[in-house]
Amino acid sequence: MPSILHCMDCGRQYPTNAVAYTCETCGGLLDVQHDLDALRGMVTHELFDQRLGSLDAPYNSGVWRYKELIYPDIDPAAIISRPEGNTNLYHTPKLAAWAGVRTLYLKHEGENPTGSFKDRGMTGGLTQARLLGMERVACASTGNTSASLAAYAAFGGLRGIVLFQNKQIALGKLSQAIAYGATCIRIAADFDRNLELVREMSSALGIYVLNSVNPFRLEGQKSIVFELTQQLRWQVPDWIVCPGGNLGNSSAFGKALYELHQLGLIDRLPRLAIIQAEGSNPLYRAYQHGFEHFAPIKAETIASAIKIGNPVNYPKAVRALRWTDGVVEQVSDQEILDAKALIDAQGIGCEPASGCSLAGARKLVAAGVIKPHETVVGVLTGHVLKDPDVTIGYHENTLEGTSAAYPNQIHTAEPTLEALRQILLNEAAPSLTPKQQDEHRVS
Ligand SMILES: *Cc1c(COP(=O)(O)O)cnc(C)c1O
Ligand SMILES: [Zn+2]
Repeated sequence: MPSILHCMDCGRQYPTNAVAYTCETCGGLLDVQHDLDALRGMVTHELFDQRLGSLDAPYNSGVWRYKELIYPDIDPAAIISRPEGNTNLYHTPKLAAWAGVRTLYLKHEGENPTGSFKDRGMTGGLTQARLLGMERVACASTGNTSASLAAYAAFGGLRGIVLFQNKQIALGKLSQAIAYGATCIRIAADFDRNLELVREMSSALGIYVLNSVNPFRLEGQKSIVFELTQQLRWQVPDWIVCPGGNLGNSSAFGKALYELHQLGLIDRLPRLAIIQAEGSNPLYRAYQHGFEHFAPIKAETIASAIKIGNPVNYPKAVRALRWTDGVVEQVSDQEILDAKALIDAQGIGCEPASGCSLAGARKLVAAGVIKPHETVVGVLTGHVLKDPDVTIGYHENTLEGTSAAYPNQIHTAEPTLEALRQILLNEAAPSLTPKQQDEHRVS
């Protein structure tokens, strides 16, 4: 049976050649559903292991290596791929000790072609756009979606259109969208309003929407879980921890784990921990009341990639949490930036939102939810170069409302050997202990 679009609420089905993101009958979110019975036995660890290191498209991609689980029916020649994925899984003993767990890995999705995990979704979304015969694709974006869409649209020969909020776009992301040649439109509205606008505009003008409401994007993002599991020799960790904004990744991770388990490719489900910024925490609030009630909020956080008050994938994220016995935690901007500073100082580096994974893991260990003997994989969602203003502001202590616990201040020196000697003599070794213990909020 070919893959279909399936409404998660009422079960109505649509063929994959329908231009649809939500159900016409009930408004529910759509999933791309594959024929798991037909795939059972056909997809094996060996099949995916054989493709490791492949030089040939599409299997040289860390998304399309798992083509049978992403979009089985399509002709490989139809795929638009950079290729993406094949990102590193870092073993980080020092950060594990800081978080309070025995084993911590960081899966670095900032190592994708445009510097964020969005590329894994975009290869799926652009491929589907071209299969549908679409000439234009659009998104609303806090930044990374637009950078990725702009690149993949240009690469695939489609027209990209991106809607931004008029302030707080990270410099790296904005410069990418412009450079890759998308039509860039700044709007005096927040992300949530821009997402409504892009959906209105697209249905009125026949443009394909590539926000994470698009189910083909989530299929591509499932590969983060496939790849990290394969990198662990098909042994799942106890926990997968990721930031939650529009909750596309959270949703995709849940579906990926569900499918791997159904297909017998893993023997147990890891638990999912979704971490939100305190000022952008609608999922966390709903979680505290057993998901009885959801209310959008006005979002605020320095981690602009997750500054989202009305996450479109909320129902899918709740489903993912139920499938995986997952949890939701919130962290302050201070905790996010300090965790980022530590990841950066390991020579790994990430953008602010990614700091949630480490900050959240540490908080969940302190709360006794994650046990010290457990294995944790934290997902770093974006590259350190994405948001240079925040990085520099942190180290220079010029950010409002936060104060750097791990600053690396730039020295200035007279052009003499003696001046340099003085600086190097007085320099302390880098440490994982905060510089300003009392100002640093330790949970
Ligand atoms: C998009 C993005 C997020 C949020 O992911 P969702 O799938 O929307 O929850 C987090 N971090 C970075 C760097 C992002 O680009
Ligand atoms: Zn429906």
